Amino acid sequence: MDGDYAYEVLDRLRKAFPNIKFRSEVDPFRGLILTILSQNTRDVYAYTAYRRLDEMVGLRIEDILAADEERIVDAIRIAGLQRGKARRIREAARFIASIGGSMEEILKLPLEEARAKLMEIEGVGWKTADVILLFYGGKPVIPVDTHVRRVSSRLGLTSRGMGYERVRMKLESLYRPEDYMDVHLLFIALGRSFCRSRKPRCSLCPLNDICPSKT
Ligand code: SF4
Repeated sequence: MDGDYAYEVLDRLRKAFPNIKFRSEVDPFRGLILTILSQNTRDVYAYTAYRRLDEMVGLRIEDILAADEERIVDAIRIAGLQRGKARRIREAARFIASIGGSMEEILKLPLEEARAKLMEIEGVGWKTADVILLFYGGKPVIPVDTHVRRVSSRLGLTSRGMGYERVRMKLESLYRPEDYMDVHLLFIALGRSFCRSRKPRCSLCPLNDICPSKT
């Protein structure tokens, strides 16, 4: 698949989902908390847990460090996997505190160094690190979640069985860095709306005349 096809896909998705834009007023540490809460759950539950954590504990590094872990568990229960997530949120706060208390210092580093640093935090893998780097650090990277992986493969932009890094690098080679945010957000929108894991809604999909996997 060539770059023209990749951009045909992106242009159509921009038209199909004109209101999809990343809006953030949160600082990078809050973004990290939200990203941890979003692991293996739906956004609505992650945001509810995030708001409850803010109400019950607070979202500053010092709030998290001062809080009893059971209180964090209680606050974020709705997001599921609450014990592991509470531990990761505490670990993240400890780690950021140990390097001076600011995530901005990490985000100022060159991309690969910043990635490696973020992945020193327990529970932060490729995807979580890349979400932070793209959304809060403005770094040129395409995080690959389950929707991005499935949609890319069905559209023939990547191949089934490719690992995280190969999918990421392949997509990054097909698009210009200034479009990485849109690729990430719009592929997720497509995956949620039409290109679902089971029973994709191909007959309604805006890409059905160019997609090689249309059923
Ligand atoms: S045509 Fe079907 S398989 Fe292809 S992107 Fe659309 S929903 Fe997915």
